[in-house]
Amino acid sequence: MNTYLSFSFGCRVNQAEKETVDRDLTKAGFTRSEADPDLCLVNTCCVTAKAERESRQLIYQLRRKYPKAKIIITGCSATYWQRHRLYRNLPIDLIVENAKKDRLAKTLLKTASPHQLSRGHLQLENKLRQSGRAMVKIQDGCHRFCSYCIVPYLRGLPRSEKIKAIVKKVNFLEKPLSEVILTAINTEAFGYDTKETLINLLKAVIDKTKVPRISLGSIHPWSVNEEFFIFYREYLSQNRLVNYFHIPLQSGSDKILSLMKRGYTRTEFEDKLKRINQINPFALIATDIIVGFLGETDAEFEETYQFVKNSPISKLHIFPYSARINTAAYYLAKRYPEPDRTVKEKRAKALRELGKKKYQEFLDQNVGRVSTALFLKEKAGEYNQALLDNRVLAYIKTGKDLTGRIERIKIVGIKNGQLFGKII
Ligand code: SF4
Repeated sequence: MNTYLSFSFGCRVNQAEKETVDRDLTKAGFTRSEADPDLCLVNTCCVTAKAERESRQLIYQLRRKYPKAKIIITGCSATYWQRHRLYRNLPIDLIVENAKKDRLAKTLLKTASPHQLSRGHLQLENKLRQSGRAMVKIQDGCHRFCSYCIVPYLRGLPRSEKIKAIVKKVNFLEKPLSEVILTAINTEAFGYDTKETLINLLKAVIDKTKVPRISLGSIHPWSVNEEFFIFYREYLSQNRLVNYFHIPLQSGSDKILSLMKRGYTRTEFEDKLKRINQINPFALIATDIIVGFLGETDAEFEETYQFVKNSPISKLHIFPYSARINTAAYYLAKRYPEPDRTVKEKRAKALRELGKKKYQEFLDQNVGRVSTALFLKEKAGEYNQALLDNRVLAYIKTGKDLTGRIERIKIVGIKNGQLFGKII
């Protein structure tokens, strides 16, 4: 047995974990095979009912397509199903709970018969790796217990990697490496247990590795503080930190934020966004919003809509609220009504449209700008796709394969909502 396929749903931490398993399996001699995998790994997500459903659908699809493969599932849904004894007839061979994820690759290797393993070369084939981008998990677990969120129950309390170990890991990733994406379940919790800080981690990765681009999967509102602003201003000219900040807002209404137990007000959040925007108006700010949370009336939704409209947020990820068993919100539902499905869909649609409009406006601002661009594997006709220093996608005609390279470019125009640039 020496072929595998792996999949990941949900957050960037799940994706980073999958990449680690991919690397470990590759080192142990496995190769990725879509035609005939011996092992299929699904790293599931449980953050919404939709994410859970998609994980189950994939498991059934894999079973139909690869009847002889061993299917191993892990992640938040897998842990949730195991704990609540749900979906016990899923066609799988093994569940690995989140708490045992650290030993996942070893468990998978045990599941495979060792005498059939052969030495292999590093053949990481997912899109990120092909373009020289890699994710590294820096922290797991969460102490926040936002009222709607199941994650702290499934991933446990925070644990951080030591800065030294992260730097070492980054330096040992296969080369050439163009970007490392540091991912955490909650950046605020990074370093509490190890007496280190997120900013010291960023400085260490910038100073002690040669990776040209460093980015954060998400940065949580509580980490966007004075220390962060000082760091960002100081390191901006080095152009190593990707100017893309995914900061989950969830709601623009103080009443809903309080019911969600997010621990900040809309004004505090607004101030953080303004500060980033003042330091760098070309930083792309993205956010997550939950629509249809308990007690959200048209008035609170309108507050969220207006907040986003008037803010420097340019990219939106919208999630209709879905109750997760045993969270605080699950019990709050007795006192605060949940908007019905059609209302949630209408609100989600309105915000998605606003998101599209705001993203287009942000793209317009980038026309004429000089930036660096990281060339991706993907092409569109004769155009290479590339990511600017704020992770915005641009199309650049070069006639060459520049995959993984970083070049200086100028954005020369915009057509059909897409940026076009040239190397300068
Ligand atoms: S910060 Fe809140 S939403 Fe994020 S993982 Fe922790 S509890 Fe969940």
